[in-house]
Amino acid sequence: MIPFFKIDERIEKAADSALEKCKNEFEAINEITEFNQLKVQKAFIEHGISESHFIPSTGYGYGDRGRDTLDKVWATVLCAEDALVRHNFVSGTHTLTTALFGVLRPGDNMLCVTGTPYDTIHGVIGISGEGMGSLKDFGVNYSEVALKDGRPDLAAIKEAVNDETTMVYIQRSRGYELRPSLTVEDIQEIVSAVKTKNEKVIVMVDNCYGEFVEKREPLEVGADLIAGSMIKNAGGGIARTGGYIAGRADLVEKCSYRLTTPGLGKEVGASLGMNREMYMGLFYAPHTVGEALKSAVFIAALFEGFGYNVTPKYNEKRADIVQCLGLENEKSLVAFCQGIQSGSPIDSYLLPEPWDMPGYDSKVVMAAGAFTLGSSIELSADAPIRDPYYAWIQGGLNFHSAKICALLAAQHMLDEGILKGVNDGI
Ligand SMILES: *Cc1c(COP(=O)(O)O)cnc(C)c1O
Repeated sequence: MIPFFKIDERIEKAADSALEKCKNEFEAINEITEFNQLKVQKAFIEHGISESHFIPSTGYGYGDRGRDTLDKVWATVLCAEDALVRHNFVSGTHTLTTALFGVLRPGDNMLCVTGTPYDTIHGVIGISGEGMGSLKDFGVNYSEVALKDGRPDLAAIKEAVNDETTMVYIQRSRGYELRPSLTVEDIQEIVSAVKTKNEKVIVMVDNCYGEFVEKREPLEVGADLIAGSMIKNAGGGIARTGGYIAGRADLVEKCSYRLTTPGLGKEVGASLGMNREMYMGLFYAPHTVGEALKSAVFIAALFEGFGYNVTPKYNEKRADIVQCLGLENEKSLVAFCQGIQSGSPIDSYLLPEPWDMPGYDSKVVMAAGAFTLGSSIELSADAPIRDPYYAWIQGGLNFHSAKICALLAAQHMLDEGILKGVNDGI
């Protein structure tokens, strides 16, 4: 029945009923996608984007209209005073680092209010590592407020913020945790709690995986600065590298001095030939995020149907594109990732195996068959081989492609005799 791929009839049936279950969620996703697409389109029209904006600059990149206007389009979309959108940001971590070092000064106090942040930020703050020039090395103090039952602890946050607090840092996405992602409304609650204690506090949001998942972005509810990666939601699967920072104009300006040099800031930086895909990436981003969300919702419904723990559930509110899947043991994790890989458009012939990845305290298995290396707006699955044996799945450039990968993952598990609900005859 499914053309080109061999899928067991029982899995096909499970897929049909999963899809049936997802109808309301898909409709809600479509509505958000349309809203955000129109928002982006309006911004393109407002700023009069033309072919001339795609002309590459070289050398210092003075007067690059395409680059400068791209900042303005992004600022309009995110309701920011200004934005700094560059292919020169090498990763999400680099973008966040530029923002942190751009804004914070020796003696300042940074307070993370969503527990310990994403792994790669630890070295930046100075939670781990030494002598690499972390914020700590430069005299920026750090403290954090733990989550309470996986949610921001508003009372403890209020307690922790005082006159000395310079920055409150919020991570919107779950990252590699099982906690729920923060909705824009959650962020609004934190902002108002924080600003009643100290109205001067800079609220910064790590917006990775969150862009275009909802109709509003964090700057619309009082955040001062946000940042994200172009090889996640913001690049729409088109941009091949880069990042963005957006928010209050004075803060974005400071970040620009950190990205290039004090004094030069945003005025320099050759766009080479990158502008066209940066624009096109933004144009595609709302739609691509919608496809990724549908992929996540479908995978949740399908594997919950087989009897696995999933978080979020298919019908739970989402504020990022990440789907966690409890696969219960190493064999299932590996089989799942191998199945996903086998259906990927790129590198389908590779067989993912667990390995000791630097920076992790257990082996990790990863499936990623992407056009852009490391892109996680494209379908990818990562799983540390340790209790509770969860896979973190994200992305999907288009739903149909992600769906067949999910079915192949189930098929692979069935072939190994370990697919719950089917192999055990439920
Ligand atoms: C991906 C991610 C980062 C870091 O981005 P890289 O591009 O991997 O450096 C930071 N924070 C969160 C929440 C992320 O999801």
